[in-house]
Amino acid sequence: MENNKKARRSYLGTVLGCYCPRCREGKLFEKPLTLKLSGFMKMNKACPVCGQPTEIEVGFFYGTSYVSYMLAVALSVASAVAWWVLIGFSLQDNRFVYWIIFNAILLVVLQPWLMRFSRSLWLSWFVKYDPNWRTRGPRDVSERINEDQGNNW
Ligand SMILES: [Zn+2]
Repeated sequence: MENNKKARRSYLGTVLGCYCPRCREGKLFEKPLTLKLSGFMKMNKACPVCGQPTEIEVGFFYGTSYVSYMLAVALSVASAVAWWVLIGFSLQDNRFVYWIIFNAILLVVLQPWLMRFSRSLWLSWFVKYDPNWRTRGPRDVSERINEDQGNNW
């Protein structure tokens, strides 16, 4: 069917919205991100729409710490540039210190979102969009998953 070939979401919308990279329809996380943060990192074991496993091998999400670190550095650079343009830095006053404090608060506030976003981004590098996801099943990764080893990372 022709109208099944086109993804409803763009790659960026999929990654930012934490949707399954394979079908771009199902949600990766069980709950939406709220201020309460209860269980906000709990992922669906598999995509509720196409069945794509979210953790495709043992310790798969170990790599996301590097992604979230990179994102935090990128955000800090962006906030430094914005601060420099809007407020400026000077050796004569404490504006640099204020930026440090502002940036620290920014990173803490955005941390939950960064953690989810980096998992979404990480998974999207390994699982590609499949236009035929309705008729074709996800790649079998069961031999790469060992429940007993799941928490040894
Ligand atoms: Zn899916």
